[in-house]
Amino acid sequence: MNMSKHKIWQWLATAREWLLTPVKRAPFFFVFIVLLFGFGHVMQFVHNLSIGNYVSLWKAIKSMAMVVLVVYLLTCVASCSRYAKVTCYVLALALKFVSLFVRNNFMVDINPVILQTVLETDGAEAGDFVKTYIASPGTLKAYAYIAICIVLIIAGEHWMPRLKRWFNRKWQRVAMALTLAVALPYGGVQAVKQALLFVPNDSFDPIFIYHQYGPTDAVSSIVYSVLVVRSVEDEAHRQYDVTEMAAKQPSNCEETDTLHLMVVIGETYIKPHAGVYGYELPTTPNLSAELEADNLFLFHDMVASHCNTSESLKRLLSTNSEAQGQRWYDYPFFTTIFKKAGFFVTYWDNQWDPKKTNVYDFSLGAIVHNKRMVKHNFDMENSQRYEYDKGLLDSYLKEAHPQVMKHRLSLSLFHIMGQHMYANHRFPDVPQFKRFTPASYNFRTEPWLTQEKRQYIANYDNATYYNDYVMGQLLDTLRNTCAVVVYFSDHGEEIYDWQDFAGRDERVDKPVPSMKLQYCVPFMVWCSPAFKQRYPECVERLRASSQHKALLDDLPHMLMDLARVKSGYYVAEHDLISPSYKPSKRIVQDAADYDEIISKSQQTQG
Ligand SMILES: [Zn+2]
Repeated sequence: MNMSKHKIWQWLATAREWLLTPVKRAPFFFVFIVLLFGFGHVMQFVHNLSIGNYVSLWKAIKSMAMVVLVVYLLTCVASCSRYAKVTCYVLALALKFVSLFVRNNFMVDINPVILQTVLETDGAEAGDFVKTYIASPGTLKAYAYIAICIVLIIAGEHWMPRLKRWFNRKWQRVAMALTLAVALPYGGVQAVKQALLFVPNDSFDPIFIYHQYGPTDAVSSIVYSVLVVRSVEDEAHRQYDVTEMAAKQPSNCEETDTLHLMVVIGETYIKPHAGVYGYELPTTPNLSAELEADNLFLFHDMVASHCNTSESLKRLLSTNSEAQGQRWYDYPFFTTIFKKAGFFVTYWDNQWDPKKTNVYDFSLGAIVHNKRMVKHNFDMENSQRYEYDKGLLDSYLKEAHPQVMKHRLSLSLFHIMGQHMYANHRFPDVPQFKRFTPASYNFRTEPWLTQEKRQYIANYDNATYYNDYVMGQLLDTLRNTCAVVVYFSDHGEEIYDWQDFAGRDERVDKPVPSMKLQYCVPFMVWCSPAFKQRYPECVERLRASSQHKALLDDLPHMLMDLARVKSGYYVAEHDLISPSYKPSKRIVQDAADYDEIISKSQQTQG
């Protein structure tokens, strides 16, 4: 018994020394590079421990494990020869420089948008880029940081003989070996997970979820960026192919008179903050007046498939059905079908600027505005972004509206900035639009509502008030024509409504109030007097459907119904105002059953 115990200890000691070999050969390299890449994650760990954010805490732990793994492997190489060590130092410093360059100049970490921009940059742009950033303050800071590292490395390696004593004492070697024995396998698990994401898969979401919960060290960030860019590219090409195919399919419109359809895609609109949906404050005087006049039909149970613009919009533009496992990129956007049916289609987008990288809208803009798409989807597009949504509307009125009115059938699509954070940037700084102030919330008594947070809520409600002003003007453009306007938001948000939190989070297992605030969106249809007169039957169906449970994903079918478009892509069961409508499962974030989560909580409460 004692003999075998002794043997086990011997084996363990041998394994320990074997594990420590590279570290003992290049101790300064190992320690320095671990600190260079890992220190930030240690701080991230400490910070999140202090505020009790366990998701970010685990991200920091995973990141540290990845750093230890990658640096250990590099140390194995570096310990082989002097030449190998110099090469490893150069590689590590180059990676650190790129991270610092990106962070200092663009205030972000290495991400898919940055990678995509680099890949799409041609020679002339690269020249301009270098000229702009070669000596920018952020780049100078990065040079200085790297220079200091080089001095430290030379000094450290010079005093190497003294540092050789590192890890000589038994307790040091045991501690180091134990750290490695935990960190290396855990880092290995992260690395294998990343590697598996390269296996072809029909879904973008495992990559997305991996990023939400996985490590954020420099290497993982690069791997994530490559994965996303690759996956988005595949999906985009499938969408282009299916669009070109759909453009050859027959599609027509039964309307023999004029008909104008407008679709307004709102942004970050929290349904309970809309006066028209019963909010305590009058945030929507114009829409409320339309409701009063019986021109506006509200829907009360519409759910967005994602709480992220790009993912939500790709699914609602596409004629697919998420519930039936159809992927958005295998079905054409409804705009293709409308254009083919003879509609004059315009797209005025305040979230896309062809001349600038937009960090809010990565894949959607690049896909929708791709040349292959535009040809089959739009007759006219805007050419720039505007500070406020009224600017977008003005440019539409000037450039597109006269053209739209020359056509018998039109589809005008707007993608506005709405109430996107930071809400105080969404409306002009004039008294007319600063309707609400912290004092407007005296009726609320939650303990977390400081003066600053009340101001934050006031900004949001003012942005909603401004949005209502823009909507009022949009409706006026079509008031004297036969027209229908469909207005909804891509997703919701939270603004200290029921907990001390503002924003959105991509978790699938959110508490019920968060589920409702972030996914259940305003959705309304406005009919001009001429439309109501011509189609009373359609108006009755709108009225009768107001309580239907539906996903935004089903939007194209309802639009085809409203505009009397006939196409093989129309499915009556997905048309929420059709008598044949059948509510399907409402899966959000491609993972959670929205209704199941809501009903489970009602059962536990009951
Ligand atoms: Zn959005």
